[in-house]
Amino acid sequence: MTDFSTASPSVLGIDIGGTNTSYALVDHDGSIRVRGSIPTRNHVTFSDFIAALHREVISQLSARGIPTDAIAAIGAGAPCVNPSSGEIEGAVDLPWPSPLPLAKELSRHFGVPAAIENDANAAALGEMYYGAARGLTDFIMLTLGTGVGSGVVCDSHLLHGRHGLAAELGHTIIRRGGRECSCGRRGCLEMYASARGVVATARKFIESDFPSSRLASIKDLTPRDIYQAAMAGDPAACATWKFTGEILGEACAEFAAFSSPQAFIFFGGVARAFPLFKDAMKEAFDRNLLCIYNRTPDIRFIPSSLPDADTALLGAAATGRNLI
Ligand SMILES: [Zn+2]
Repeated sequence: MTDFSTASPSVLGIDIGGTNTSYALVDHDGSIRVRGSIPTRNHVTFSDFIAALHREVISQLSARGIPTDAIAAIGAGAPCVNPSSGEIEGAVDLPWPSPLPLAKELSRHFGVPAAIENDANAAALGEMYYGAARGLTDFIMLTLGTGVGSGVVCDSHLLHGRHGLAAELGHTIIRRGGRECSCGRRGCLEMYASARGVVATARKFIESDFPSSRLASIKDLTPRDIYQAAMAGDPAACATWKFTGEILGEACAEFAAFSSPQAFIFFGGVARAFPLFKDAMKEAFDRNLLCIYNRTPDIRFIPSSLPDADTALLGAAATGRNLI
């Protein structure tokens, strides 16, 4: 049976979403011992919400005979966080006025230290403590989903920068004058390597080169459709993943010059197609890398090894691991 005494401290990971807030008590090896969730809304004040979360967690621990001092620290992942102030600032999905003193309120109710991170940074820490980046001191995590997020670990430290805004790599320009981005500029990586970026690439290939592609008739095209079509040999889908790989390879060659990583780690819906874009990515990376760096396979490209459903909670818990 697991020893939940303070000699084997566990971390409470909390993932705050607009609808539900999930929590998990995570052991030192990443095993989840207790998990649950409460609705994020229906609490008058932010402090009421944290109090309700505290009651729920304590009640679940107690039902399993786990002492409350098994929680050595808390880590939370949330939208719009400022890790240095410990506050959530301007999160439109949360029903209370900003700023929300998340770290302070968690610490006050649970009586242990608490730290908070944005989702991509938390995912990077999750990989470092529990996933594909274990044992690495220098890596760049790219989350390829609705947008493109990133977390940079350099000399074993997660980079935060001023206001916690370091490493917005999704908004580095990879095609000068390219596709218009929601940030108001053109050619950002996000417009090519996010879900909608990949869909835009497929639409372009269908229109220009492959009008008879099986994807042409799909109205709400998704990266999953493009993945499945590529597996069946559809030329527009294959061209899409090749182009996506080339873009990512060029981008990673630039990023290598920022922090000289040992590896790039890929997570998110688009990253599920990793086997389909990795070869084009590695070729473009080697072609574009500054000569002072060693090429692949010395610098590795690795898909996330965390289970999709638990990544947010493990990332949140990893954020708290830094405190013990
Ligand atoms: Zn942008």
